[in-house]
Amino acid sequence: MKTLNDFNFENKKALIRVDFNVPLNDTFEVTDATRIVSAKPTIIKILEDGGSCILMSHLGRPKGFQDEFSLKHIASKVEDILGVEVKTVGDCIGADVEAAAANLQPGEILLLENLRFYKEETAGDKDFAEKLSKLGDIYVNDAFGTAHRAHASTTIVAQFFEGKKCFGNLLAQEIESINKVMETGEKPVLAILGGAKVSSKITIIENILDKVDHLIIGGGMAFTFVKAQGGKIGNSICEDDKMPLALDILKQAKAKNVQIHIPVDTIAADAFSNDANKQTVDINAIPDGWEGVDAGPKSIKLFHDVVMQSKTILWNGPLGVFEMESFANGTIELGNAIAEATKNGAFSLVGGGDSVAAVKQFGFENKVSYVSTGGGAMLESLEGKTLPGIAAILE
Ligand code: AMP
Repeated sequence: MKTLNDFNFENKKALIRVDFNVPLNDTFEVTDATRIVSAKPTIIKILEDGGSCILMSHLGRPKGFQDEFSLKHIASKVEDILGVEVKTVGDCIGADVEAAAANLQPGEILLLENLRFYKEETAGDKDFAEKLSKLGDIYVNDAFGTAHRAHASTTIVAQFFEGKKCFGNLLAQEIESINKVMETGEKPVLAILGGAKVSSKITIIENILDKVDHLIIGGGMAFTFVKAQGGKIGNSICEDDKMPLALDILKQAKAKNVQIHIPVDTIAADAFSNDANKQTVDINAIPDGWEGVDAGPKSIKLFHDVVMQSKTILWNGPLGVFEMESFANGTIELGNAIAEATKNGAFSLVGGGDSVAAVKQFGFENKVSYVSTGGGAMLESLEGKTLPGIAAILE
């Protein structure tokens, strides 16, 4: 696996695919700069080597050249975070861009315009990728968030950099973290899958059963398993058509010697609202008109004990409707347990969509070993897929 350390960037122009697809408010200010901060180590390392950086990214889903999606809006934020002047050029390919890239001096940064102003980007167009490739000497992919897409700048461009391509620090860290859970993790390995739907996580569950010793199934997903086993779940969310599959997963787990842990009690609410009446009930005996919206105290204790025994922990998906304060407790307590286990030496990885939001919201970000920056890319990795952006560097 080639990383930045395999190259000397002195007097070289690094063409870096970053993920600067950051949220902007109405006045085009960056409201969450995490992705820019995450790319900083790669950029600084190359500049310190005596190289220059040509940064390319997409922003949003523009239809052609649309000013509101211009990366010029984020240039000053990138400058603030890096502490280095950032030059912009009104395009990402063409004669002006080539001239700007050619004139770039060691220590300088050029931010290209939004790649998705060209439909060729998402189409993975080879000619477009070749035009991008003319801008740099070494290709660096540091965009985990788009590594599951075979786009021109994330995958196709790599074929023009035979022997001159590598992973940036962020992408290397993401790959290492996933490998630590899926391949080389110290046992017992625990995966915690929560969230709303079984259907969105089936492939992950099936892949992960070969990798883990314990699997906690929590959140809304758990009710399909409870009902499939004959429990009464009241109005809780459930995918009836996935019940046979849930039973099959339980059978597979048994055969593979994986211990599955499902909540034993739940906080039930009489409406899907923060102000609803609530009561703690047995998971198999939820009254009609009530729905399970958070993990109950016995489940929290059970999950805490499993977490504390584990040496490697993967967490994807909340244990309840954490967006509502009244139903956030299970997710917070799980975060606390993972933080405690991490302090005691376990490796913990949080990734994929809402669990990352929960971890940030409740302040666990620095108490777990690693928080993934990629939603879809993380989920596809957990499904066991080789991401095209990663494969393109390894080829
Ligand atoms: P996912 O994107 O599949 O990880 O699902 C995340 C969503 O699951 C969050 O918006 C949670 O509010 C929701 N969720 C978690 N537990 C429950 C539950 N018991 N009932 C309904 N929604 C839930």
